[in-house]
Amino acid sequence: MIYLDHAATTRTAPEVVEAMLPYFTEYYGNAGGIYRLGSESKRALMRARETIAGTLGAEPNEIYFTSGGTESDNWALKAACEAYRGRGGHIVTSKIEHHAVLRTCEYLEKQGIAVTYLDVDADGLVDPERLKRAIRPDTILISVMYANNEIGTIQPIREIGEIAAERGILFHTDAVQAYGQLPIDAAGCHIDMLSASAHKFGGPKGVGFLYVGRKAKLRSFMHGGQQERGRRAGTENVAGIVGMEAAVQRAYRTMEEKAERETVLRDRLIERLLREIPDVRLNGHPTKRLPGNVNVSFAGVEGETVLIMLDMESICASSGSACASGSLDPSHVLRAVGLAPELAKGSLRLTIGEENTMEEIDTVAETLARIIRKIRETVI
Ligand SMILES: *Cc1c(COP(=O)(O)O)cnc(C)c1O
Repeated sequence: MIYLDHAATTRTAPEVVEAMLPYFTEYYGNAGGIYRLGSESKRALMRARETIAGTLGAEPNEIYFTSGGTESDNWALKAACEAYRGRGGHIVTSKIEHHAVLRTCEYLEKQGIAVTYLDVDADGLVDPERLKRAIRPDTILISVMYANNEIGTIQPIREIGEIAAERGILFHTDAVQAYGQLPIDAAGCHIDMLSASAHKFGGPKGVGFLYVGRKAKLRSFMHGGQQERGRRAGTENVAGIVGMEAAVQRAYRTMEEKAERETVLRDRLIERLLREIPDVRLNGHPTKRLPGNVNVSFAGVEGETVLIMLDMESICASSGSACASGSLDPSHVLRAVGLAPELAKGSLRLTIGEENTMEEIDTVAETLARIIRKIRETVI
């Protein structure tokens, strides 16, 4: 099998599983317990919080453990609106956010919040000048993703953060695709809140965190016990959090080397697809893109058909966004970059990870050229 869907999820690294196991069977105590078994869990949570804070230049008490990216995004947006309602009721975000942000914004609109959805350019970039013009006196939050999950475009986060900071507006970034892949300078980029998810960087599913800087006021998300300083109640997912910490350590240890390797594989795949297949285009920015992201559109071809044929050759990929599969609507991201609906429907996302090899990339390029030729011959 050739797995090229790392933006959807990654394999949990064996050393991560290894780190987690004792927290199921040996150190299973509730971190809230006052007996020694509980304090081992408590210490594990403290260590994980320190490790993660360290990667962002943050303080441990600015890290809140959650169930993943979706929860972190929901919490950041809903809680910011609640805490700052007195100052205004306007959010600025982009048209290419993940559904965890977009659907939350739609929900908030029903609650009376006004939302501006910024257009992006043909490469998927948010224009900082356009952002400045969208800001109103009642704007309380800017939420722009660090890097896009479909087309891999990396946003000018530092500039966006500076604009937010100059105006005293809270800045949230969905960094689920970026955290663990790219170095992130939370303070330097004036990021007030940041969402991340362990399963996107070699950790287990169902665990993530929300970074909340000291400046930001934050309301509780889950009401109940005193976990997460009373802000997110519920017995902590200790094993999951330990696994996330192990994945963070691993990701930061290998980050540079991994990014370089994936960039070489990415550029090779893009180059071969563009050269060997007629009527194909690359979606997303040519260089400001995630190291492992390839997103292409084939004219006159259904992405779903390509996926099924790739699956028959044991190649896992995705058309548009994984969350969008199952519906035949062209992805909101590809629409926002101005792709014609027929081209958007013929789009394919191949996301490279650490296990992929040059040999696999060449196999995929050859297989795709053959599949696309076959589909086009059948259509005509
Ligand atoms: C995967 C993803 C999410 C959702 O994260 P989960 O942990 O799966 O809930 C949110 N935003 C982006 C950009 C993602 O890629």
